[in-house]
Amino acid sequence: MPRALITGITGQDGAYLSALLLEKGYEVFGLLRRSASSEVVGARLHWLGVQDRVRLLDGNLMDLSSLLRVMEEVQPDEVYNLAAQSFVKASWQQPLLTGQVTALGANNLLEAVRLIRPQARFYQASSSEMFGKVEGGAQNERTPFHPRSPYAVSKLYAHWITVNYRESFGLHASSGILFNHESPLRGVEFVTRKITDGAARIRLGLAQTLPMGNLEARRDWGHARDYVRAMWLMLQQPEPGDFVVATGRSASVREFCELAFAHVGLDWRRHVVLDPAFLRPAEVDVLQGDATRAREVLGWRPETSLEELVAEMVEADLRRHRDRMR
Ligand code: NDP
Ligand code: GDP
Repeated sequence: MPRALITGITGQDGAYLSALLLEKGYEVFGLLRRSASSEVVGARLHWLGVQDRVRLLDGNLMDLSSLLRVMEEVQPDEVYNLAAQSFVKASWQQPLLTGQVTALGANNLLEAVRLIRPQARFYQASSSEMFGKVEGGAQNERTPFHPRSPYAVSKLYAHWITVNYRESFGLHASSGILFNHESPLRGVEFVTRKITDGAARIRLGLAQTLPMGNLEARRDWGHARDYVRAMWLMLQQPEPGDFVVATGRSASVREFCELAFAHVGLDWRRHVVLDPAFLRPAEVDVLQGDATRAREVLGWRPETSLEELVAEMVEADLRRHRDRMR
């Protein structure tokens, strides 16, 4: 049985990746950072029904000694580094913490792999936010980076240190440059889930308005379930590399609002209000990925349309709120 170690296993992608790897016959281990609210920690794994089939080991990306211990204990064949301070907006409020976790944390994990388990294959969760201020058409692996937030700068460090460990030490280390991917398990602070949760609450009479920031920003939104498949495929290749993972379709926050509210029979313009508190010091105006390389080398294709994604998310939020109201 192959063994996989996932950092960030309690997050959105960690839950979907766990389910995928279990289905493929892996033994799945996850790094768990200690929390005083332990009852909510496994909520996403629970949602997908896999909480009893993964083994969680205490550790923190900022604590190299814990990573060395976990690496020693698990002896993984594959390591997926999904842990991060992952919310762009929070990275201006906590830039140093973001750097310590998202940038140096990745380096800590690479050190643990290099020292304890150099034969393991390594995946780094890189981000389309690294492209930032883009010029011209769709972004691919050759597009220059111009990060626009402490989060994106930290991800860029993690991306390059992954490339560097591959080139310096011959690690099988790959970096997936993933565009935004969402699901019913997306954190409610991110724009898509905020909108689907808001539309559901307004439909059920639990709220009247939804305060929002920049409605003109455009993102290339896919489904997390499709994107974790690309992560796994990268580690099955004979050679490591960097891959853009995206749908190729870009839509605005405004269009996402339209779709989500229409799904519950509402006109978004009557409920969405602008609130400057949700604007950012620097914005990434538009992202649209070109995943030709992933398609040609990995045979990867997204399977969920934006409309299907919105419908699944809104339905899940309606169910959640109805259950709470009972
Ligand atoms: P989430 O925010 O849902 O999950 C982040 C995970 O990191 C959580 O499990 C969290 O644990 C863990 N974590 C945070 N800090 C630490 C730490 N110091 N030590 C150990 N674990 C820690 O992110 P997603 O699942 O959405 O994304 C997965 C990865 O992919 C992230 O690195 C993200 O930045 C990146 N990415 C995501 C994209 C997206 O659209 N979703 C796009 C491109 C990249 P806890 O539960 O305790 O908070
Ligand atoms: P990001 O692409 O990783 O920053 O993902 P988010 O989902 O947090 O934000 C996507 C885009 O939506 C950004 O351009 C935000 O400025 C924009 N946006 C507009 N209103 C909001 C809001 O209320 N919350 C969030 N999170 N983003 C918003």
